[in-house]
Amino acid sequence: MSEQKEFKSVSDFFGCNVFSDTVMRERLPKNVYKSVLKTKTLGIALDQDVADVVANAMKDWAVEKGATHYTHWFQPMTGVTAEKHDAFITPTSDGNVIIEFSGKELIKGEPDASSFPSGGLRATFEARGYTAWDPTSCAFIKDNSLYIPTAFCSYTGEILDKKTPLLRSMEVVSEQALRILRLFGNDKATRVTTTVGPEQEYFLVDKKYYDMREDLILTGRTLFGAKPPKGQELEDHYFGNIKQRVSDYMKDLDEELWKLGIYAKTKHNEVAPAQHELAPIFTTSNIAADHNQLTMEIMKKIALKHGLVCLLHEKPFAGVNGSGKHNNWSMSSNDGQNLLDPGDTPQDNLQFLTFLCAIIKGVHEYAPLLRLSAASAGNDHRLGANEAPPAVVSMFIGSELEAVIEALESGTKVASIADKEFIIGVDALPNFPKDTTDRNRTSPFAFTGNKFEFRMLGSADSISCTNTILNTVVAQELCEFADQLENADDFEKSLNALLVKTIKEHKQIIFNGNGYSDEWIDEAVNVRHLPNLVSTVDALPQYTRPEFVSMFEKFKVYTPTEIASRTEILLENYSKVINIEALTMLDMAKKLIIPACISYTKSVCDAAASKIAVGISASVEKNLASKLSSLTEGIVNAVDSLDEKVIAAQGQEEGEPMARFYRNEVFSQMQTLRAIVDETEMCVSSDIWPLPSYSDLLFSI
Ligand code: ADP
Ligand code: MG
Repeated sequence: MSEQKEFKSVSDFFGCNVFSDTVMRERLPKNVYKSVLKTKTLGIALDQDVADVVANAMKDWAVEKGATHYTHWFQPMTGVTAEKHDAFITPTSDGNVIIEFSGKELIKGEPDASSFPSGGLRATFEARGYTAWDPTSCAFIKDNSLYIPTAFCSYTGEILDKKTPLLRSMEVVSEQALRILRLFGNDKATRVTTTVGPEQEYFLVDKKYYDMREDLILTGRTLFGAKPPKGQELEDHYFGNIKQRVSDYMKDLDEELWKLGIYAKTKHNEVAPAQHELAPIFTTSNIAADHNQLTMEIMKKIALKHGLVCLLHEKPFAGVNGSGKHNNWSMSSNDGQNLLDPGDTPQDNLQFLTFLCAIIKGVHEYAPLLRLSAASAGNDHRLGANEAPPAVVSMFIGSELEAVIEALESGTKVASIADKEFIIGVDALPNFPKDTTDRNRTSPFAFTGNKFEFRMLGSADSISCTNTILNTVVAQELCEFADQLENADDFEKSLNALLVKTIKEHKQIIFNGNGYSDEWIDEAVNVRHLPNLVSTVDALPQYTRPEFVSMFEKFKVYTPTEIASRTEILLENYSKVINIEALTMLDMAKKLIIPACISYTKSVCDAAASKIAVGISASVEKNLASKLSSLTEGIVNAVDSLDEKVIAAQGQEEGEPMARFYRNEVFSQMQTLRAIVDETEMCVSSDIWPLPSYSDLLFSI
């Protein structure tokens, strides 16, 4: 009973730590509130005096909630967020302090940028950078600080973060989508927003075991570990009932996220043992990106409270599924339409098909960009490695839509679909099933009724890069369409011709079959000529292809220098990750695994000797000791060779050559070492083996 009394409805505390629209309406003078609203919805910059009023209200609100500090919260190229906290205090002449926060401090911060990755930008330009408030994403309170979402740039204007390009891409796609809407006679909509709902997968392990594994602590994944007797083959974990400890964690997590105004909605067990998923309700892309960063951070923090560790690495365990992040993406106009919803009228249908064709063309022409947006050392264990979507980008649109596209191309009627006959632009399209019956789970880019789901992202990735690319690519195609159609004498005729041409030229990106099969990869590469960029090292150099660079430049999303610097940062990051993993393996092998092998061999030999001393045959012990001895020798050799390769890697030319060396030489030697260590684990007593086993990690909660 007492528990029921304490129960508070979610709506009572949802967003209680957010300086939300409601709070602003309550606390700001009407005219100030109106100008902030304009900034938020129309992307207009805020004046200084308005900023002062907002800053003061924000500070009062934050202080009432116990905040003592504020921080400009930003997303440098490290992939995680960064923050530097300043107290609200200003000294007074009598030696006391007053609590102050000005519009200037709200709008601009000046963290020392020199230690963030900049890919050579800082060497040639200024060492300093500044952060600028993004008023479209709400400030919030966490751990007694007021967090102000900000963009991060260098003083000469080069962007150093992941938020700025995303915001720019949202502007350009809005602009181009509006041109298309105008062509369809829409003069009401003034803005098109891209929306995202990222589904987040993760693992939970017991902290007690985590703490015993240097590999998990330093690299986020197990670098050694023999397969457990049971994996995911029984498929009993997916959507299975949630264990009490995990359920308590999820409940706590939901509450923390709700307080921060994050629409945590769905939670369930995933395919692999100890793997789970959280999906929020979708929202505007940049807010979704901020919220996803916060979600990942809070997931880790709350886990510790429960004696758990949340692993966001794409492949914490070999042999069981890794974790991804599905980026559900759509576009909506501020007159209330989801532009990727087929709609009910012929007019809506035609508009939908126009957007659809633009996306098909974009995904086909810019597939390498989408692929590289999901490229990382961690995600290489998934994409192109017999798991999750393949490294080949293709699109799934479902059989209904494919029939429509085919009919459009051939100028025929679509034979009865869902008992309806229709001609494009004349009759209504059928209602596409939005349930899970017609879902292709192997496709990297799937239409799911009123949105696309991009499934390549890794669980630890920021969603910003993918959405920046997606938005810019779609803007590019819509711009090309609009350029042609705006000058057409007969709109419908030209549109029809444009759509048919687009389908003819780009339909090879559409694939509704099984994306995991070897036949598909063969067909994709050899028949359809789709790029198969297997690893990060293959994908990243594509960034700087001239046609890609000029697209980003045309829409002012990235300058050529910014793209070059990003490519450099990402390649360097890849090399660093593999280097850390290799060094961790060496450390563990030398200090834990080899000594354990030696001591176990000794105890087996001792056992043999004592048997022989009393005249009993010791053939079992002798065989085991000799097997252990040769396995240990194998480990030592593999360690020596890895040592040499790590040293050789340092001598490679930085950038792509070094990254390639790490992949081809260091990473492959790591796999050799791992294989022999895992084989040895199966021969050594678990009392002596120095690491918790996969069974401990995956099945102990
Ligand atoms: P599934 O696992 O079947 O793909 P989920 O319900 O787990 O489905 O996730 C679907 C995600 O797509 C949710 O985050 C949801 O909010 C999001 N979504 C739904 N509609 C849109 C939209 N118009 N734009 C972006 N995301 C959307
Ligand atoms: Mg999904």
